[in-house]
Amino acid sequence: MEIREPELKLCKIHGKSASDDDKGSQDENVEILATFAQATSVLLHSLSRYLSVLSLQNSSDKASILAILQVLSDLLSVGTDRRIYYMISKGGSEALLQTLVDTARSPSPDYDILLPLFRLMAKVGLRDKKFGQKALELEALDVTLILARKNLSHSHNLLHCLWALRVFASSVTTGAMLGINGAMELLFKVISPYTRKHTRTIRAATEVLAALLKSKSNSRRAVNRGFVTSLLRLHQDWHSHDVTDTYVLIRHGLLLCLRHIVTLRSGREAFLAANGMETLFSIAQTCLDKKSMEPVTSVALQILRQCYPESPLPLVTDTSAYTFPAPGSTSSGLPQAPPEEDFEDDGEEEIDKDSDVEAVKEDDDLETDMNKLSSKPGLDRPEEELAQYDAMCPELSCSFEELEPKYGDDLTLKDTLYASRNHVPSAASQCFNREHSSWGRGSEDTVHTSILDTVKSGKSRIQLFSKQRHLTNVNQSIKQNGLGIDSSGHDTSGIQASLEEAACDIESISCPRITSSFSNFPEPEESKEAAEKLLHTHPKHIPFHDPHLYMAHAMRTRSAVGFEMMAFPDFWGHCPPPTAQPMLNRKWGVQRIKILEDVRRFLQQSDVINKVVFSLDEPWPVQGPVSDCLRFDSKFESGNLRKAIQVREFEYDLLINADVNSSQHQQWFYFKVSGMRAATPYRFNVLNCEKPNSQFNYGMQPTLYSVKEALLGRPAWIRTGSEICYYKNHYRPNAATMEGASGKRYYTLTFAVTFPHNEDACYLAYHYPYTYSSLMTHLEILERSIDPRQVYFRQDSLCQTLGGNPCPLVTITAFPESNSAQHLEQFRCRPYQVITARVHPGESNASWVMKGTLEFLISSDPVAKLLRENFVFKIIPMLNPDGVINGNHRCSLRGEDLNRQWLLPQAHLQPTIYHAKGLLHYLSSIGRGPVVFCDFHGHSQKKNVFLYGCSMKETLWQAGCTVGGAALLEDVSYRMLPKILDKLAPAFTMSSCSFLVEKSRASTARVVVWREIGVSRSYTMESSYCGCNQGPYQGLQFGTSELEEMGAMFCLGLFILELKSASCSHELLAQATTMLNADVLDHYLQRCGSSSSNSNSRSTEVDDEPCCMEEINYSADSSSDPEPNFTELDRQIQECAFQKDEEEKEEGTGWRRRSIPQS
Ligand SMILES: [Zn+2]
Repeated sequence: MEIREPELKLCKIHGKSASDDDKGSQDENVEILATFAQATSVLLHSLSRYLSVLSLQNSSDKASILAILQVLSDLLSVGTDRRIYYMISKGGSEALLQTLVDTARSPSPDYDILLPLFRLMAKVGLRDKKFGQKALELEALDVTLILARKNLSHSHNLLHCLWALRVFASSVTTGAMLGINGAMELLFKVISPYTRKHTRTIRAATEVLAALLKSKSNSRRAVNRGFVTSLLRLHQDWHSHDVTDTYVLIRHGLLLCLRHIVTLRSGREAFLAANGMETLFSIAQTCLDKKSMEPVTSVALQILRQCYPESPLPLVTDTSAYTFPAPGSTSSGLPQAPPEEDFEDDGEEEIDKDSDVEAVKEDDDLETDMNKLSSKPGLDRPEEELAQYDAMCPELSCSFEELEPKYGDDLTLKDTLYASRNHVPSAASQCFNREHSSWGRGSEDTVHTSILDTVKSGKSRIQLFSKQRHLTNVNQSIKQNGLGIDSSGHDTSGIQASLEEAACDIESISCPRITSSFSNFPEPEESKEAAEKLLHTHPKHIPFHDPHLYMAHAMRTRSAVGFEMMAFPDFWGHCPPPTAQPMLNRKWGVQRIKILEDVRRFLQQSDVINKVVFSLDEPWPVQGPVSDCLRFDSKFESGNLRKAIQVREFEYDLLINADVNSSQHQQWFYFKVSGMRAATPYRFNVLNCEKPNSQFNYGMQPTLYSVKEALLGRPAWIRTGSEICYYKNHYRPNAATMEGASGKRYYTLTFAVTFPHNEDACYLAYHYPYTYSSLMTHLEILERSIDPRQVYFRQDSLCQTLGGNPCPLVTITAFPESNSAQHLEQFRCRPYQVITARVHPGESNASWVMKGTLEFLISSDPVAKLLRENFVFKIIPMLNPDGVINGNHRCSLRGEDLNRQWLLPQAHLQPTIYHAKGLLHYLSSIGRGPVVFCDFHGHSQKKNVFLYGCSMKETLWQAGCTVGGAALLEDVSYRMLPKILDKLAPAFTMSSCSFLVEKSRASTARVVVWREIGVSRSYTMESSYCGCNQGPYQGLQFGTSELEEMGAMFCLGLFILELKSASCSHELLAQATTMLNADVLDHYLQRCGSSSSNSNSRSTEVDDEPCCMEEINYSADSSSDPEPNFTELDRQIQECAFQKDEEEKEEGTGWRRRSIPQS
């Protein structure tokens, strides 16, 4: 017989390859594979030939077919899935389906053939994406349904039919066709209430039904036929009877069916009408702690989230509580962000999902127009307008006649005066722990103590510190209720006692008033005096801070609503804690507990207080002076709490104010809270966040500042909060303001805080605040503390903002050595470096990095000195002062993102951008375009610090375009600075950097400065709000010290970049070598030279976080359904093939169905 030969051959192959697998060999022997391929072809060929030529009545043909099926099955049960894919590619699916149709259509179908055929089909079908479509075309659906109907009382045969139906249904279109042909009704005949018989068949039926319900038309049919109620009752029945949790998978399958149905609005309505919320809530609660019930709990929660009725935000309007009559703004025509995609599309469309959709979308944003990618230096304004910037660059024309007399001054006096003021910012050098200082602190140190000593490779010291940091948690000192010992080891119980005495004053001193002329306030002078007294009795020297000066600047700062208070932390100052804080370990299940609490709030409203205790919209005061709830305030610079609602005794819902003149961008928050009890966890739910995910899900904590702690000698913002999670909630924009944002969803940030003291006043913020008044104070102190012989420091005003605040422009360089012609020439030829920050007001981390940059540049560090002598730094530390002042997250007073206005800024609408760009144009027009342009930002989705740059070549390559000749000539020097920083800065990583030019970023500073001003090294530097997942700071959240250190490291990077550049003068190299530790320098120059980084910038473009351990997405979108588990179905089939099911013996007894219980 002709079948013999291949069969024999195959048996040999089978044996050989099996033993190969046993030995664990990596690759299948090529030879074997070739023989296998050959054998498969022969087999498939034989199979189809038998089918077409012979009738199956013939017993010898039956034997041959069985033999083929057996050999195929044996072949496919060993080795890898590659064999199956090969068979599919050779038409295996079609051959099997055809065999099925022919066999089933014979007058008396032969189950000896059908059963092994079904098993083989299930195995192959699962791996063939087009299997459903092929089955439809070959009319295998009908015959399988008919066979299933015939075998309703024969569960073993039925089970096989169900497996086939399940692989058919993995295609949505085929599933819909099965639904039309009555498959769901058939399945409902199989799925019975609780029983211990035929459970394998019941389980398979629930799985097929769930697969069918992925089709929206099937779901709609299910709703119309009342299946929602049936499914709920079935589930309840199994849940209550299955006390040993033996049939978890059946219960899971039933819930999966419901989950698909409730993606339809009508499905949700049916679910609510059947009291589904109550039923599933109680089921989820009883299952919550059982690990074995995990599949059930997780689907139940998804259904609950999906069905939680939407409600409008508890606000009178979504538009900001603050308005500002900004020029050119129309109150209704506010720019709206395009709505996010709506997951609840109720349309008829049923498309098999395409996993590549996302990637395609991202690449679509890449700029591929060569015209827009090539550098096009050109003016966006009349040339004569540039003349105004002469005044901002007096260094270019100054004759420095006054230089000589200076040297005649009493040098000794000056030395003592400035020596004590010289200060280098460092990761840990501030007031808390001078002993941990990781780099030089001033001129008393030798020149070898430099920023260079702290760079990455030589930083075993830093590494050590960060290890220690894990051990000493700042929170601990706080958690002891602040009693006992302050950071310097002094007993503070005396101060504590006096604080308790003055408890009633805390409230008034904690928000010092800026002016004393506000008539509504009862005792302004007293409050001011109290603040004065405190400063006197609790003196705390904080480097580069001065409370009196802060108050003076705060009085000049103009807000849209006229703030009259100062936030205590900004006034008093912040000293970073001695150690960086580790990221919070997320407790597993924290999100589901929160969601169940939300559901409970919906179902059981009896214990919900729902009392508004603070609101910017309602008449003040909402709360009486004496009350048992927390008191809130946010009417101070950068503050933005809009409303607080007490939900339960220790739980509050909070709503953040939208950006001024806008109805969106809520993310940043900063508010004061007082009147608390110590050692009691308070829960805060910020209800109207906008970003779809947050580092709050990955270890980030909000920041807290305690006034009492500050008075005890620990004036610090610290990371705090537990049980933190961030998830999509059920709130929708208010109907009144919904236009243009119908798909918009909100997210809840929830966290619990245990305050350190009774009756304290505390401040909570999204990130370490840094106000405009802080900046102005800082700049004034910097100016006062420089040694004018060494540092040229100038503060100009770039322009006035719309809100009437000056936008500072800082110039830092070194004075010329003398006013000799040669020295003046050197001075006037120094290249420029331009650095900007804080165009996005919510990105306060950018300001802390900038603070580090500024302090480093004026410091006595030898690197700083060389930088000053060789460059002129033009720095705009805050591009959006108005946004910062008014507590915005993203926008200017016109409600627009200023980092999308660089293409065509207008002087009267976006003055800071217009003049920042003007200054750059001016520098370029006189041949002094900057070496590097960098704009500091904060990043809410990623960890570490990284740069975005611009590369035409990389963009075209990524977009899959053939690179033209001009592009090939692109200078790759844009990669040098990030590579250097990767080596130097502990927080920085090259692996997150990207150099792609996106269409959506065409009007950002980075792209416009690159393209229009022609600066090839034009960057955005992003600092995480959270912390690092690599390098010495791995596992730590950023403190302000780490951010400031990054600012200093950025400057060091600029220095190394210059040393490595071709244009670097011999003189500078020689100076660098003599002034700095030559070994260290050598080391860096070499290491940076070897381009070790081969990171693919693209691979890191996506969010660097995994999908989270808990589903973030609020909607139970069916696309998140896991793919059918191959091994699981394989296992079921295997189990069934070898075990004569006990169910078979029961066949004779029939299958008594209980009716669905009526509840
Ligand atoms: Zn930004």
